[in-house]
Amino acid sequence: MNSNLITEYLDLLFPNPKCELIYHTDYELLIAIVLSAQSTDKRVNTVTPIIFNKYPSLIDLKGADLKDLEAIIRVVGSQHKKASYIKSIATIIVDEYNGIVPRDRDKLIKLPGVGRKTINVFLSEYYNEPAIAVDTHVERVSKRLGLAYSKDDVLTIENKLMKKFAKEKWAKLHLQLVLFGRYHCKAVKPECGNCKLIDICKEKKKNI
Ligand code: SF4
Repeated sequence: MNSNLITEYLDLLFPNPKCELIYHTDYELLIAIVLSAQSTDKRVNTVTPIIFNKYPSLIDLKGADLKDLEAIIRVVGSQHKKASYIKSIATIIVDEYNGIVPRDRDKLIKLPGVGRKTINVFLSEYYNEPAIAVDTHVERVSKRLGLAYSKDDVLTIENKLMKKFAKEKWAKLHLQLVLFGRYHCKAVKPECGNCKLIDICKEKKKNI
């Protein structure tokens, strides 16, 4: 089965995949994921230490100056929206959840700037819950490898991946697909010449 070939190869390339966002607490991870939308983990990692040094607690973040937050996060883009998300998330977590990020999907989805993908990344990374977040890398790689059709939206892709791979592999698979897409099966000039999945890939002819 292609899903076995894929997991075997990904296990070879990334036996211990790690999330590349830097964080120390539950809320630092959640905010880093929110900041990473339409940006890169590398860029996010340049601004989160500045935010969390300047505002070292959720209460400090709740009281943060919006203009100051916007200036700090400008490099990740969408700074007006994201600064407002950060302040609102901090306010809600302090006021309604006693300073602890809720683990409950129904509560998480109500936080500003937090959607299904963010929740999946957060729960799988922080709590090792089985979930497959479909970001731009996971979407591209899934389509190239025939795990999804080119017309499929992210929710359809997530459901297909959950059907094709065992539940206990989901959290690790998400990280492996992200890393494979980021460093091997890149959007532009993927490294097909070295890829052991070339025989099952739909894109191979275009790239070699
Ligand atoms: S053959 Fe190329 S496009 Fe296909 S999965 Fe491998 S790196 Fe990606």
